[in-house]
Amino acid sequence: MNILNLVRDNIKNLKPYSSARNEYSGANAIFLDANENPFNYPLNRYPDPLQMELKEKISKLKNIPAENIFLGNGSDEAIDLLIRIFCEPSVDNIISIEPTYGMYKVCADINNVAFKKVLLDSNYQIQVDPILKEANKNSKLMFICSPNNPTSNSFKKEDIITAITNFKGIVVLDEAYIDFSGNPGFLSRLFEFPNLVILHTLSKAWGLAGIRLGMAFADEKIITMLNKVKYPYNINRLTQEKALEALSRATNCKTEWVNTILKERQYLIDELSSIKEVVNIYPSDANFLLVKIEKAKEVYEKLVAQRVIVRDRSQVALCNGCLRITVGLEEENKQLIEALKKSTYPS
Ligand SMILES: *Cc1c(COP(=O)(O)O)cnc(C)c1O
Repeated sequence: MNILNLVRDNIKNLKPYSSARNEYSGANAIFLDANENPFNYPLNRYPDPLQMELKEKISKLKNIPAENIFLGNGSDEAIDLLIRIFCEPSVDNIISIEPTYGMYKVCADINNVAFKKVLLDSNYQIQVDPILKEANKNSKLMFICSPNNPTSNSFKKEDIITAITNFKGIVVLDEAYIDFSGNPGFLSRLFEFPNLVILHTLSKAWGLAGIRLGMAFADEKIITMLNKVKYPYNINRLTQEKALEALSRATNCKTEWVNTILKERQYLIDELSSIKEVVNIYPSDANFLLVKIEKAKEVYEKLVAQRVIVRDRSQVALCNGCLRITVGLEEENKQLIEALKKSTYPS
């Protein structure tokens, strides 16, 4: 498969904006090239457009060359750019699953690109054959999220491989929750699949949703396109600094946080199991639980009244009667269980 054949002509032919910092990127010079203010160092200076220092750090951490890394303003930036790079509005289409993360369809709709979805099966696994049958010559992208939001499970490795190797477009595998799962994910196998883009984020396991940093890992040809289309300074200086600092800590908090969250996830499973109205707690590979509960909508409202906010997913396909509960701090989880007991056994 020649990936460049999948790229829209206007993008292939695009001459990208060349910023001052693209044209001269050395340090230790007198910078009079970018109309910056000479005062207020360092925030007076535009950030590195290609975030090389941060990418080198991520490269070591993930064992992926910097040339195969794109950094975005959250994963959402990569999702939007991939659609704009590969999908001709009102001509091409995207294949995905249902239920899954809502941003894929929102970005497709914004770009006026048809979004075709295939229901998961009753075990929340992907139905690979129907998915591949849904594809036609205009299907340029496929979005798969594993562990999946909101179902919280991982898909079977073999099914994901079948999808990647048989789809004649780009497969975007969103692994936002991979650190909470028992499996290693696909990053170590990236180079087996030239049409694979893997998304990671600092928003979940790393506890940095506020700085907005998403990562895409892919063949260099795809990374080159992403860099061509992105805003010149898409990752601001504060975000680059904070991310570098967090990823450079000798003892990183991430591992400890993930372990605590996994322990708390088990606590929630144990407590929820003892509540009669809880019909099902779906197996989770993520930092949240999908829970089927009697009168979900009512329970949701009663929780809100007690100032405990969960996500009502009861209207989502295959999630009838389900609430999505993020694992919080020990104290928060205790309060959730108490509030839930009050909501289901009203005194
Ligand atoms: C939370 C989440 C993300 C993270 O998005 P950011 O823009 O990086 O914060 C990505 N994908 C899925 C499925 C998510 O649930």
